[in-house]
Amino acid sequence: MSVTLGSPENPLRVAVVGSGPSGFYAAESLLQSDKSVTVDMFERLPAPYGLVRYGVAPDHSKIKNVIKIYERIAEKPGFSFLGNVNVGKDVSVRELKDFYDVVLLAYGAPSDRKLGIPGEDLPGSYTATEFVAWYNGHPDYRDRKFDLSGKVAVVIGQGNVAADVCRILCKTPEELKNTDIASYALEVLAQSKIQEVHMVGRRGPAQAAFTPVEIREFGELADCDPVVSPAELELNPASRTELEIAKELTRKKNIEILREFVSSNEANPRRKFASPGASSKRKKFFVRFLRSPVEIKGSGRVERIVLEKNRLEGEPGRQKAKGTGEKEEMACGLLFRSVGYHGVPAPGVPFDERAGVIPNQEGRVTESERVVPGFYAAGWIKRGPTGVIGTNKADSNETVRHILEDAPQLPPATRRDTRALLESLKKKGVRVVSFPDWKRIDAREIARGVPAGKPREKFTSVTEMLSVLEG
Ligand code: NAP
Repeated sequence: MSVTLGSPENPLRVAVVGSGPSGFYAAESLLQSDKSVTVDMFERLPAPYGLVRYGVAPDHSKIKNVIKIYERIAEKPGFSFLGNVNVGKDVSVRELKDFYDVVLLAYGAPSDRKLGIPGEDLPGSYTATEFVAWYNGHPDYRDRKFDLSGKVAVVIGQGNVAADVCRILCKTPEELKNTDIASYALEVLAQSKIQEVHMVGRRGPAQAAFTPVEIREFGELADCDPVVSPAELELNPASRTELEIAKELTRKKNIEILREFVSSNEANPRRKFASPGASSKRKKFFVRFLRSPVEIKGSGRVERIVLEKNRLEGEPGRQKAKGTGEKEEMACGLLFRSVGYHGVPAPGVPFDERAGVIPNQEGRVTESERVVPGFYAAGWIKRGPTGVIGTNKADSNETVRHILEDAPQLPPATRRDTRALLESLKKKGVRVVSFPDWKRIDAREIARGVPAGKPREKFTSVTEMLSVLEG
């Protein structure tokens, strides 16, 4: 008997792997379609929302308001959350395919790119990824130790993640205490001895990846002044052309803000110097351009970084950094590499190691250029780690459009029964966390935050989260 997937008798059964923005936007799009669809969303942790919970900076609480939209999606008929299920461990992707007509992989890009320079792995050199996950209370990172006893921190890269890391290092405990930052992180940051934070970009100010809202914040910090060298802000002719032909204003606004920083430095030259007492503000945030790290030095831990000065080469819009051979060395006790996230493979699913993505054609997973029926990708694991939260909406819609187009031809899953899957997970000792379960954990976190004036005090271990459900 042939089965028409997407009919009320045989709803299209979709497993979404990952509960970040791309997973939720895909679920919304699927559930809004005129076909009958059920969505089971699998998440490794008991808590949903991926990078909205564990990536967005704690002091950017407005960005987290997007969670309200995801909560409404989770309440739609046909949606189920299956938290605390590790796809690849508790259930393989291939097994999942027995239960679902469609497996949609939306698990993001949890690893990070390497710099590939000597000394990169010295103690005191960390990835931004681990620092961000640590201050956001991610259970996998809560035991990480960051030594903030040195005076100088260097952050390599000039994207918004680098800006987040720098800002968290530059803020006072007072500025962070009413956020959902993990309390252990707040305690460590309160003891920080860091006085200078240098955000180092390999290209020029016209190519910096941060956005105006993020860079402007550095002019508004309670105990930190931004410092930019006028010489490093000078644009070569190709960069000037880039700004003139740019369709969006982001880069132009960045330059305006950086120039404002220079003007305030010039109006008050004492701000530039980091010597104690030179300014009423204790910390300095240096934005450095046209410098690439070539070596991290230190006996047993990070002590110095060697930077090579660059010049830009190439057509406007395609300029690359080229080393000049001129080097400079600076003392630093702490280093963060913030040069982009990188995807990791899901066992049994094709993977492009170099790009760090699942190979796909507009979301249809491919192997050797051929579409693998029933497998799809969305979000960072589909397109790479770029774009803001909202970018994922159009990206997920594109994938869902193809899922719905393909549905009539897809081979139906052989075991069309989530209860059987839940039963097998239970036998393996997996405590599946439903959305109502999560809401209980959520309510407890919010209540725990009240005494300290925080929007929530996150549970930072899976055991703690699950213990809420035992009571
Ligand atoms: P990103 O925006 O891609 O920035 C990566 C930075 O690393 C760039 O400055 C890049 O320079 C630099 N880089 C790469 N390889 C390097 C190398 N070998 N040596 C030196 N520098 C190197 O990545 P991200 O900061 O991880 O952010 C990921 C995405 O999340 C972005 O789309 C970002 O906007 C978004 N995000 C948004 C927010 C927000 O909205 N508040 C917050 C966090 C993240 P080049 O340009 O020269 O390659």
